[in-house]
Amino acid sequence: MSIIDIDNKFAKYFIPPNIKEAKKRGKEVVQFLDFDPIPKEMIDIGKGKYYLIRTYGCQMNSHDSETMAGILEQMGYQPTDEEDEADIILFNTCAIRENAEDKVFGELGRLKHLKLEKPHIILGVAGCMSQEEKVVNKILRSYQHVDLIFGTHNIHRLPILLRDALLNKEMVVEVWSKEGDVIEHIPKVRQDGLKAWVSIMYGCDKFCTYCIVPYTRGKERSRRPEDVISEVRELARKGYKEVTLLGQNVNAYGKDLDIDYGFGDLLEDLRKIDIPRIRFTTSHPKDFDDHLIEVLAKRGNLVEHIHLPFQSGNTEILKKMARKYTREEYLELVRKIKQAIPDVVLTTDIIVGFPGETEEQFQDTLSLVEKVGFDSAYTFIYSPREGTPAAVMEDNIPEDVKKERLQRLMDLQNQISRDKNKQLKNQVVEVLVEGVSKTNSEVLSGRTRGNKLVNFKGDPALIGQFVLVKITEPQTWTLRGELVSNAQEELLDVVN
Ligand code: SF4
Repeated sequence: MSIIDIDNKFAKYFIPPNIKEAKKRGKEVVQFLDFDPIPKEMIDIGKGKYYLIRTYGCQMNSHDSETMAGILEQMGYQPTDEEDEADIILFNTCAIRENAEDKVFGELGRLKHLKLEKPHIILGVAGCMSQEEKVVNKILRSYQHVDLIFGTHNIHRLPILLRDALLNKEMVVEVWSKEGDVIEHIPKVRQDGLKAWVSIMYGCDKFCTYCIVPYTRGKERSRRPEDVISEVRELARKGYKEVTLLGQNVNAYGKDLDIDYGFGDLLEDLRKIDIPRIRFTTSHPKDFDDHLIEVLAKRGNLVEHIHLPFQSGNTEILKKMARKYTREEYLELVRKIKQAIPDVVLTTDIIVGFPGETEEQFQDTLSLVEKVGFDSAYTFIYSPREGTPAAVMEDNIPEDVKKERLQRLMDLQNQISRDKNKQLKNQVVEVLVEGVSKTNSEVLSGRTRGNKLVNFKGDPALIGQFVLVKITEPQTWTLRGELVSNAQEELLDVVN
C-alpha cells in the first residue's frame, strides 16, 4: 500500500482507518513476512534518547508494547518512566470500552503543555483506538499536538513512520484497515525473564455483535507452528519459567492454515518442550474441541487453568450477541472439561445489561455462574461500541438496573470465589515466585498453576523459583500461606 497525501489540513501522510474495509473477509492468502531491517538512517537515531510507552487493555496490547519497545531499542532508544525525560511517548490504546478511550483522550489533553514546552517530543497513538475512524477524526480535530497515529497492522512500520514524523511538521497517520498479515522476527523487549507472552494467532472472525476487535485487529490468522515452537524453545533455553500463548480466540488456531493442524496439536508439540508452565488465553467455547480437552488432560506443563468467557447464561441473549453456542452447549463443554480435568480452575467474562436483557434472562446468567462454580470472573456492564451491530439495538435497560444486576452478580461470584479458595486451606500448592508483595516488602507473591495469587513470607532470593506453599488463610481474591519447601525434588514429587 502506498502512502497517499490527501491534502488533509493537519496530516501529511494520511491513511485513515476505514470500518467498511475492516469488516471485509476475503479469500486472500495471508502473507508471512519478515520484519524489514531498520533503515540505515534510523539505526542510531535514538542514541542518548528515551521512550515511554503507556499500555491500556489486554495482554495482546501488552505484548504489542513489548514489540514497539523492541523496535525502538534497536534504534538506540532507552526506556524511561518519566514523561519529562522521554523523547517519544506512545499510547498503546484499547477500544473495548468507552471509559478506556476517555482516559486516553484525557492523557493526550494533559500532555499538550509538555509538547509546547518541548516541541521535539514525538507523541504517538497506537493500538485499537487508532483503528477507529471517529477516534482518528477527533485527534485530527482536537489534538493537533499529536505527531503520529499508527494502527495494529502497522507496528512493524514504526521505524519508517517515526522517521516521517521526525522529518515533518504535519501529523503522520497510517492505519491499514486490512485483514492482516503475519510478520515474523520483529524484535521484542520482554517485561521480565520469568514469564513471556507468545502470540500464536492474530485477529478474530467471530464478530460478536458487541465487540470491536474483529474490526481493529483483522481476520483470524495463525502463525506457522514451526515459528511458534521455535519461539517457545528459545524462551525455554533462556530460562523462562512460564509462557502464555495469546490470541483473541486461540482455539481457532490453525483453521486458516493449509495444513491439518489445530490448537490441540500445537499444545501436544509444546508440552514436549522443557518449559515448566504453559497457559493460553482467550478461549471461545465454540472452537473448544474434544482433542484439545484430551491434550490438556495430559497436564505436564499444560496448567489446569482455562479462561472460558460465556458472556450470558441465556440462549436468546447469546443469539443476539452472535456467540454461536447455547447455554446448554456451554454447560456440556464445562461438563466434559471437568470430567477430564476434575481440579480445573475455570474463569470467565460476563456482560450484564446487553440490549433487551430481561430480569429472567439475567437470572439465567446467575444460575449458570452457580452451576459452573467459576473460580473468578471479569464482570462488565455492556458498553456500546460505534460501528458494531449491537450499538444500534434498542438499549432499554435503565442504568441503575444494569448497576444493580452487576452488583448482584459480583456478590454471587465473590461468594463462590471465597468458597473455592476455602477448599485450598491446608493444601500444599506449587507457586512460581514472581516478586515482593506490593503492600508488604517482607512478603513474596507468586501464582499457582491455576493462576491464583499466593502471598507468603520468604527470602527474596526465591524470586524466579518454584516453591511449595501451605495455604493457611484463603481469601476471596488471594491466598495466604507458609513456605514449606523450595527443594525441587520434593516439588516434583508433589506435582507429579
Ligand atoms: S470472540 Fe467475540 S468477544 Fe472475542 S474478540 Fe472475537 S468478536 Fe470479540
